[in-house]
Amino acid sequence: MNATLGTTQLKQLDQNHHLHPFTDFRDYAEHGGRIVSRAEHVYIYDSDGNRIQDAMSGLWCCSLGYSQDGIKRAVAEQLMELPFYNNFFRCSNQPAVELATRLTGVAPDRFNRVFFTNSGSEANDTQIKFVHRYYQLLGKPQKRLIISRKNAYHGSTIGASSLGGMNAMHQQTQGLNYIHHIEQPHWFELGGDMSRDEFGLWAANELAKKIDELGEYNVAAFIAEPIQGAGGVIIPPDTYWPAVKEILNERDILFISDEVICGFGRTGEWFGFQTYDTEPDLVTFAKAVTNGYMPLGGCLVSDKVSDVLLASGGEFAHGLTYSGHPASCAAGLATLDVMEHTPILETATKTLAPYFTDKLSGLGDHPIVGEVRAKGLVAAVELVRDKGSRERLAPESEAAVYCRDRAIESGLMVRQTGDAMIFSPPFVTTLEEVDALVNNLADALDKTASHYGVHGW
Ligand SMILES: *Cc1c(COP(=O)(O)O)cnc(C)c1O
Repeated sequence: MNATLGTTQLKQLDQNHHLHPFTDFRDYAEHGGRIVSRAEHVYIYDSDGNRIQDAMSGLWCCSLGYSQDGIKRAVAEQLMELPFYNNFFRCSNQPAVELATRLTGVAPDRFNRVFFTNSGSEANDTQIKFVHRYYQLLGKPQKRLIISRKNAYHGSTIGASSLGGMNAMHQQTQGLNYIHHIEQPHWFELGGDMSRDEFGLWAANELAKKIDELGEYNVAAFIAEPIQGAGGVIIPPDTYWPAVKEILNERDILFISDEVICGFGRTGEWFGFQTYDTEPDLVTFAKAVTNGYMPLGGCLVSDKVSDVLLASGGEFAHGLTYSGHPASCAAGLATLDVMEHTPILETATKTLAPYFTDKLSGLGDHPIVGEVRAKGLVAAVELVRDKGSRERLAPESEAAVYCRDRAIESGLMVRQTGDAMIFSPPFVTTLEEVDALVNNLADALDKTASHYGVHGW
């Protein structure tokens, strides 16, 4: 931090000049926020001297924690060697070449090409252009409709927010008219009297119905996150993905798996589509690919698609100044080094994830917990007033916001979506730190229960 600026002054300047993402500008200008000054391991430190345990891996990206010096060094060294050169006009750079190669190496065999962007949003915009070009080149230009799901999050550019199913975003900017949304596989919210398995089949069938309604002849692609992250860590019923896979297999449409959260070990495999055994044609990645240390996203393109894109020639009219930025790609390579050559991933999957799930599930008996769901190292705890009817504590997610604020006050950084508390802890979290996380959460749940007049714990 600039030594000449005290914390009070920094906060005031922030309120005066800095417009924050997904923030109520008026509220922020009045009340301000927190200046995060440094981070170490799984802890962030703010300019007021608070230490806060990060249960979200930053914004789902710092899966390996904040102290991966190898990644920091790789970026610094790359900046000294080649700080920038573009990948347009028949130019390339070594980190971009190596990262494209390494990423296709960790993906299934049919993925052999990578297009780089700076973010997940841009990568999903790129996917739209890939699927449109694919069908144009195949002589089926009318196949341009894309099916997505309500409450999906695919990013915030106009393309990506149109793909997403967030009402608030759709209300503020008109979305693209060729994108259609089906119901999400969110049993807790929508399952009613159906069993999980019944509901999973019902939600999968929504895809078949939508394809039939729009006409397979017109539909280019289906895009989905294996687990909807920002939507509230929605883990589909076990019946959902096998049924969707079958529907996709029977039809000529492309499948884009948005792995921006699920990729790079979050659900226990390299990619979430491997956890759920689906077969995407295109894969979107970002976030954890650099452990969040540098901006980078991109698309993994299967042979089925790239064969068509390459065969016919003609320029793909799309690209970003920083596509394949050497320093971002260097961060990606160093991140893969940690993931492939240290035991972090294996320990996270075999030891940490089961322990985390077990401890968190222990909160299932709490009077305001309606459901605990977890897969690998991503989880959600649904807050309710009544477990049987799943009646909520208060309207408009107010109780989850209250609970989140109590958790943060006690030194635990968590997020809330709707009435769910959501978690995506770093893979380097120790078992003791899981205990601390769960204890702090239990404490926040107690305070929330008593605030809303629920007793009996
Ligand atoms: C965060 C996210 C994105 C958008 O990535 P940005 O880098 O913020 O543009 C896209 N898809 C999913 C699933 C995400 O979680």
